[in-house]
Amino acid sequence: MEKIHKRIAMDHDKKIALVAHDNKKRDLVEWAKFNRDLLAHHTIYATGMTGRILEKELGFPIIKLQSGPLGGDQQIGAKIVEGNIDFLIFFWDPLEPVPHDMDVKALLRMAVVWNIPIACNRASADFMISSPLMDGEYDRLVADYDDYHARIIIRGESG
Ligand code: PGA
Repeated sequence: MEKIHKRIAMDHDKKIALVAHDNKKRDLVEWAKFNRDLLAHHTIYATGMTGRILEKELGFPIIKLQSGPLGGDQQIGAKIVEGNIDFLIFFWDPLEPVPHDMDVKALLRMAVVWNIPIACNRASADFMISSPLMDGEYDRLVADYDDYHARIIIRGESG
């Protein structure tokens, strides 16, 4: 059974990633505009096109990564692994296939591996942004992966 023992601190000012597939961009923009003042003091990352639209609509700087199908989802996943994203709002489209479907799955998987809060639709995003935890410090509990690192693959050696 997994032992949970590592705590990763989230600051008051959080690093938030925002991503929306094309059919969901309008939804994300409306949500972000409604919550503009709540978002403004955090550091916001976004995939390319999502970031460009949000920056224009919100009027504050957004760190824009590559477009999702060109690797942007993977960049966000890597930042989660490095401890540089605290929070993910990802409005993915359940009705339309995308070329980078496996990247979408990988990003969602990394968010679960590292116990990052994720909202994949507007109602969840509303609940998350209005949580009292948003404006405080919070210790994220992450499973202890030391046993995984120490597993024995070749007799006499460990990782
Ligand atoms: P985009 O990428 O913001 O560049 O449109 C989003 C995605 O498809 O993951």
